[in-house]
Amino acid sequence: MSAALCYACDGAMRERRVGIADLLVCGACGFAKIADGRHTADYWARKDDVQHEIDERYWTARLAVYRRALLAVEQETGRGRLVDLGGGVGHFAECALGRGWDAYSVDVSPHAARAAAARVGEGRSLLAAPDSMNGSCDLVTLWCVVAHVPDPRAVLADAVRLLRPGGRLLMTTPNFLFQSRYARVAARLGRPLDFVASDHVLHFTPASIDRVLADAGAGRRTFAYWGITTDCLLERRLARVLVPCKRLWNWAAWGASRVGVPPLYSELHVQAVAGAAGAAGVVA
Ligand SMILES: [Zn+2]
Repeated sequence: MSAALCYACDGAMRERRVGIADLLVCGACGFAKIADGRHTADYWARKDDVQHEIDERYWTARLAVYRRALLAVEQETGRGRLVDLGGGVGHFAECALGRGWDAYSVDVSPHAARAAAARVGEGRSLLAAPDSMNGSCDLVTLWCVVAHVPDPRAVLADAVRLLRPGGRLLMTTPNFLFQSRYARVAARLGRPLDFVASDHVLHFTPASIDRVLADAGAGRRTFAYWGITTDCLLERRLARVLVPCKRLWNWAAWGASRVGVPPLYSELHVQAVAGAAGAAGVVA
């Protein structure tokens, strides 16, 4: 195991117990992945069948945040063509379409694409973005996608390929700098996070996702925080305590990140601009 190399930076990975899961963690950039390599073959085939109720709460909370991110782009650059990569069952593309975007949902899962087609129409739900779309998109979004795929660098390179010069890429992924600490707290509270069961196979830190985005050709990367704190995975009673604590922590951590403390909020939100040179920074 000690010979394993980090996906993000080629640093040495070491096996480490985090909460109740055995993970391989990079000593250089902090990137982690589950040690035994198990993952779900078709995430959406299982998700959409058995988790309707959770999905409703999940999407209500997330769409509010994604809508806010979309509004910021609309105010800056206006609306245009949007591709939601890893679009799942099409909730976000439907939302963007309703706001006047020329929106498409792209997902490799046939199960998800069928469900998305019912929301946005056959022509707007795709299993892959065609080459004819290259360089034509104003915005490509990847909401919690890179944690689920075996090769995020390739997916992000696809996203950059779709963008016109100056087009935006918006992405989110859980922040392992936070999650590894949270896992320890949750384990002490008797409610351990199970990284292996949660479908997230790759766990990024700010340094590791920035590195992978740069490799994929994403320019001028900025870390923002738009504020996702959902209670969908917790029982209601526990959520009443943990969610306000998490929300408070997130905004304090966001404030601290503005003055140079590494981002310790629960989810990483990154914006990149196609064709723009420049390193990562904190967005104003
Ligand atoms: Zn690394």
